[in-house]
Amino acid sequence: MIEFHQVNKWYGEYQALSDINETVARGEIVVVCGPSGSGKSTLIRTLNRLEPIHSGRITLNGQDIHARGLDVNAFRAGIGFVFQQFNLFPHLSALDNCTLAPRRLRGLSAAQAKEEALALLERVGLVHKAHAFASELSGGQQQRVAIARALAMKPPVLLFDEPTSALDPEMVGEVLAVMKDLARDGLTMLVVTHEMGFARDVADRVLFMDAGHVLERATPEQFFNRPEHPRAQQFLADIR
Ligand code: ATP
Ligand code: MG
Repeated sequence: MIEFHQVNKWYGEYQALSDINETVARGEIVVVCGPSGSGKSTLIRTLNRLEPIHSGRITLNGQDIHARGLDVNAFRAGIGFVFQQFNLFPHLSALDNCTLAPRRLRGLSAAQAKEEALALLERVGLVHKAHAFASELSGGQQQRVAIARALAMKPPVLLFDEPTSALDPEMVGEVLAVMKDLARDGLTMLVVTHEMGFARDVADRVLFMDAGHVLERATPEQFFNRPEHPRAQQFLADIR
């Protein structure tokens, strides 16, 4: 479903992605981990065209996503993105945060968008906060609204970039629980996270990045018990 072919990217002189060749199958849950600055955010941002690439090709269902002439808005509507900083509109209600894009980009009526958004807020356990301003919600609640907002576009692919890193520790669990629930649903998910427990429990595959290279790709069982690359062994030793 997603293919990276020989992808390279530079920031000026610095090569942030080196010869990336990866395939993600439909319904697969892939966790991307690695030290700070290894290129994890860059990798998933290229997938949403938030970052250009310099060579190689990335395809989604066979379509070259960096092709000139691609309808970027339509393309982005098919890929949900959940950031570390939730980026909700603070002065809109949780509900309105979730109905905005479907009304504008999917052409839903106000009533349809509301009905769908309420169902999604229910799913993330926040239907009782539908009318609260985003600014009145806790960090964990805001991140769950951000997930509902991403789902409101009905994307087949969801990208997460450290969705729990900005949260107080006691709120991490509620967000991971929602993500685990989605993972059971057949969505394709690429998740950059330091939550190794999540990776162990939920990932089909773990990618380990260092200095712009994917150095290891393995099942969680292999990765955590028998990491092959010395850098991966070091990374796991450091976080344990
Ligand atoms: P972290 O775990 O800290 O989020 P990361 O693995 O997500 O790190 P990236 O943000 O992808 O790392 O960055 C990879 C490298 O590219 C880093 O060395 C970073 O300094 C550099 N970089 C990232 N964004 C830019 C930019 N806009 N301009 C120049 N260099 C950048
Ligand atoms: Mg990052």
